[in-house]
Amino acid sequence: MANVKFSITGEEETQKLGAAVASITVPLCQKLNKSILINLEGDLGAGKTTFSRGFILSCGYKDIVRSPTYTLVEPYDFDKFSIYHFDLYRLLDPEELEYMGIRDYFDKTSVSLIEWPDKAQGVLPQPDITIYLSYADNSRNVEIVTELLQQDELDSIKAQF
Ligand code: ADP
Ligand code: MG
Repeated sequence: MANVKFSITGEEETQKLGAAVASITVPLCQKLNKSILINLEGDLGAGKTTFSRGFILSCGYKDIVRSPTYTLVEPYDFDKFSIYHFDLYRLLDPEELEYMGIRDYFDKTSVSLIEWPDKAQGVLPQPDITIYLSYADNSRNVEIVTELLQQDELDSIKAQF
């Protein structure tokens, strides 16, 4: 288990963190030809959607990245992989995800970014990476915990802030 803690100041740094995590996980999902799950934990306004926006834009998406609050999931299909951005805040019953065919999302070459994963307890697979975001005055504290990435990969992310 590898982990790292640091803080980031301002929306741009949160987007940059998303891009930094994408630069490691997107090549990895293609190399392993599997789906990687990233849980995004943190209160409303902690920066989960901002992180996701940075992640998705860094992959070359040219449009507006909207919060999938009402659709629960927004897919982004690229040539060789997909990103699934989930926001489960409004999920009433984890079974809803079964009806959506959630398992299909996790057998593709993809990275899933999951806001409010706790709302789907028991239905989602174990995450490969968990990113905790919390308030600290005008910045945010970040903790990344993972069994998939190496400690030196996490240290290289931290070194960018
Ligand atoms: P969530 O999806 O967790 O509810 P959002 O990303 O929608 O949060 O909103 C986060 C808010 O906090 C935005 O107003 C954004 O500008 C701001 N923000 C994001 N990252 C930081 C940061 N590192 N420092 C200060 N403010 C931030
Ligand atoms: Mg959000």
